[in-house]
Amino acid sequence: MVYSHTQISQYLRCPRSYRYRYLDGWREKDTRAGMVFGRCFENALGAYFHGEDCTAALFSEWAAHRDAPFQYRKGESWDRILHQGVHLLHRFAQDDRIKISDPGENTQIKLSRTLGAGNEFVSYIDAIGELDGQRCLIDWKTTTSRYSEDPAGLLSLDPQLICYSWMSGISDVAFVVFVRKSLPEIQYLKATISDDQRRDFGRMVETTVAQLEAGQFPSHSGIRFPQNACMSCSHLGLCLNNPKLIETNLIRRPGASDLDWLDELVD
Ligand code: SF4
Repeated sequence: MVYSHTQISQYLRCPRSYRYRYLDGWREKDTRAGMVFGRCFENALGAYFHGEDCTAALFSEWAAHRDAPFQYRKGESWDRILHQGVHLLHRFAQDDRIKISDPGENTQIKLSRTLGAGNEFVSYIDAIGELDGQRCLIDWKTTTSRYSEDPAGLLSLDPQLICYSWMSGISDVAFVVFVRKSLPEIQYLKATISDDQRRDFGRMVETTVAQLEAGQFPSHSGIRFPQNACMSCSHLGLCLNNPKLIETNLIRRPGASDLDWLDELVD
């Protein structure tokens, strides 16, 4: 079995949701414009580092979704999102804080690691390069609100960065956050992951995989108002037996797939 950070974090969020997604095949429909745009934007960044016209790349990627039945947030539209993306690409080029040598080798890097019992863990790292002259592992994020920077050191607790540091052995990590808001902004957020954090993460993965393989899928909703995780869970319709919610949010591809770890590419 091949596992990824996306799978493990979904199990930790709610084992029942993991079962719905990875064993029963209930996937969220691609109706969120922001998520699809994030994929287009990352491809445009790839074009930027390959010395190509990244604005043209963004337009052509996003144009493929012009007539898609997206649920746009209030005040959003296809054009407005494109405009924000172009603005962010220009700002990124002006900032010129990230350098990636040999982008063919150092972007979209697949790393794999053998776990016990013949299992494997796979990660896709967005890039390894330099931020302000310091070598680090980089993950791109597109979002509509700024990432919190307080209190200091918060980012070093981010499980995705810890996971990538564990996979790569690289301590210095960074999120480059492209914030789509009325005045687009880019955050360059650095963190350092310790050996202890990497060791703990490895142990947590082994423990979680053991629970998964023991078939433990209890629901895990118990977070109280207003942080009720069920409200943002795409599987809410299944737990509430609500056909309308299921029809709106989910599509079913029965059974587990050998390629489920590819979810990692959209996280
Ligand atoms: S709706 Fe709540 S209990 Fe049901 S799968 Fe989602 S998070 Fe778990």
